[in-house]
Amino acid sequence: MTLYIVATPIGNLDDITLRAINTLKSVDLIAAEDTRHSGLLLQHLGIKAKLFALHDHNEQEKSHLLIEKLKSGLSIALISDAGTPLINDPGYHLVKACRDNDIQVVPIPGACAAIAALSVAGLPSDKFSYEGFLPAKSKARQDSLSQLVDEPRTMIFYESTHRLLDTLQDMQTVFGADKRVVLAKELTKTWETIVSFTVNQLIAWLNEDANRQKGEFVLIVEGHAKTENDVDQKAINTLKLLQKELP
Ligand code: SAM
Repeated sequence: MTLYIVATPIGNLDDITLRAINTLKSVDLIAAEDTRHSGLLLQHLGIKAKLFALHDHNEQEKSHLLIEKLKSGLSIALISDAGTPLINDPGYHLVKACRDNDIQVVPIPGACAAIAALSVAGLPSDKFSYEGFLPAKSKARQDSLSQLVDEPRTMIFYESTHRLLDTLQDMQTVFGADKRVVLAKELTKTWETIVSFTVNQLIAWLNEDANRQKGEFVLIVEGHAKTENDVDQKAINTLKLLQKELP
């Protein structure tokens, strides 16, 4: 019948809409990334529901099954561990399969770490580029960042505790030490912190206290402001990267 894409909290459990709660109460089945994790949220909301595991590793295979259930008249809600499904979370294959099969898909909007961080960053928010997670390996990460040297829009990245400093070092190498970065940490949680620095200042700030490097992070990076020296800056960055490759 209908697939509902339902946003859940990114930390503070109060950040769920009335419509999301009503939808989760009314559907026949809830497809969740981690049924144990979502079970706790549903318990907190007093919702008893049938849960179905749909994660990155089984999504393509299980989507067929969910499509059959939807065609048979069941209504299904898709939730992820936190925030909005499909935003660096499973759901794309299922939504595409629904569209291909003329099954109605309804968004139930709510929390999303990227948008929450952008809304408080104080960087231009009229145009932005959502970049998600950068590659894990430094070479691939620097290559990805090099593609963004000229990006004029504000850029949004997700990052994890153990890669935060390495990513910022690579941003410093590729974008330059003066690039402005807003770090939004632990949004909506007890230790929520939002700071705005140049990338070299941010690295120093994080190194002052190891606790500052722990948690969940969004990095909001200022876009490139065009200057007359644009070509030179690009050439310098390419040279820097090439130098690293040379024996
Ligand atoms: N679907 C989620 C959303 O709508 O934002 C994102 C899921 S992604 C797998 C998880 C990443 O989102 C984390 O590693 C972190 O970068 C970011 N994130 C999630 N919750 C956050 C929070 N409370 N504060 C800061 N970043 C958060």
